[in-house]
Amino acid sequence: ATQYDVAVIGAGAAGMMCAATAGKRGKRVVLLDHAGKLAEKIRISGGGRCNFTNINAGPANFLSENPHFAKSALSRFTPQDFLAMVKKHRIGFHEKHKGQLFCDDSAEQIIDMLKDECADGGVHWRMPAKVQELQQNGAGYVLQTDEGEEIHAAAIVIATGGLSIPKIGATDFGYRIAKQFGLQLVEPRPALVPLTFDADEWAPFVPLAGVSLEVDVETGSLKGRNPTGARFREDLLFTHRGLSGPAILQISSFWQPGTPITINLLPEMDLAQTLIEGKGTLKKQLGNLLAQWLPSRLAEGLLQAHGFDPEARIADMKDDALRKLGRAVNQWTITPNGSEGYRKAEVTRGGVDTRELSQQSMECKNVPGLYFIGETVDVTGWLGGYNFQWAWASGVAAGLAI
Ligand code: FAD
Repeated sequence: ATQYDVAVIGAGAAGMMCAATAGKRGKRVVLLDHAGKLAEKIRISGGGRCNFTNINAGPANFLSENPHFAKSALSRFTPQDFLAMVKKHRIGFHEKHKGQLFCDDSAEQIIDMLKDECADGGVHWRMPAKVQELQQNGAGYVLQTDEGEEIHAAAIVIATGGLSIPKIGATDFGYRIAKQFGLQLVEPRPALVPLTFDADEWAPFVPLAGVSLEVDVETGSLKGRNPTGARFREDLLFTHRGLSGPAILQISSFWQPGTPITINLLPEMDLAQTLIEGKGTLKKQLGNLLAQWLPSRLAEGLLQAHGFDPEARIADMKDDALRKLGRAVNQWTITPNGSEGYRKAEVTRGGVDTRELSQQSMECKNVPGLYFIGETVDVTGWLGGYNFQWAWASGVAAGLAI
């Protein structure tokens, strides 16, 4: 059997970063992954260009039962630190929207960069290799691979990610190991995921599939010192089964089953007020009028879904009817019946309970030498490069501590 200082299981974003960091400190590192192809999730991320960080990333952009947990790692490895690595490897990048940084060419460049960093750290690879068993062994650990190899390591880092996109190799390995060692889990749930509705309720909106526009969306309570909800202004996309687009992906991470979401389809205008005050001056028919402010297919579909005559003249309409239309546009409240699930979710919220881990090192408080990093942990970023920033930062935190 070969003896290592650390075995990192999962060669994704967090695992490669951690292995490289520990290796460059002179640690003897082995990195294992069961996949045939390296870092598929990085490859498909950001539409193939990898939104590798967000220059504004801070603890406020993450969900966790303990919102303070991520502070330490995030402050010690910042978006600027990752950017310095990207620049050192001469990878072209650009800012797209709200601080989101993407590769100019391809996400492959980020994978190559991390591979090079691992090579600099003299990291040993086992891939594809499945871990069949992991046990404590004196002060360290022993693991068996499906290749029949026995690996001894003083420390183990679990970096096998969450449950999203099983098609490219996501497994519950991290949660199984957590249970094996008696750690608490925060229930995993699909996040950054399109939301769906009962077929009956959605039927009037099916013809709107493909319509996209910028909206405000909110869920839960925004009141008090510890609000349980959230609000985002982003693009919304109608689909055949429900709603998607960045606005919905963002809100999906906060949405609680059984509760509604509220969408303002015209965030810059109080529609009821505009129509009531405009009764004398706005001469067009209702349908044409609404189509000045909303995509015309949406204007038409909304009037139909809510039973308004598109040829009506607002001068002839009751204020109450205009208020009802105003609510349908400025305060559309609907209750999803679920989400598209792990098949479509970009991340998994929940995971290893942060109370089990040291926020400096990511090591289990009660299981010396066992570390959890990246998406396995109950720290989930918003859409926009935050999840990779957590993978990098938590990987570095463990890589420096081992
Ligand atoms: P992963 O990167 O998922 O790596 C886990 C690794 O563990 C994989 O290589 C897997 O093969 C391996 N593994 C799993 N089970 C086992 C096992 N039993 N044994 C051995 N190995 C195992 N985030 C952003 O910040 N920006 C984006 O642009 C972005 N785009 C995304 C697009 C899509 C379609 C998806 C699905 C996600 C996207 N994300 C994005 C989220 C981001 O990819 C993840 O949050 C991030 O990859 C998590 O890093 P990780 O290292 O924890 O896990």
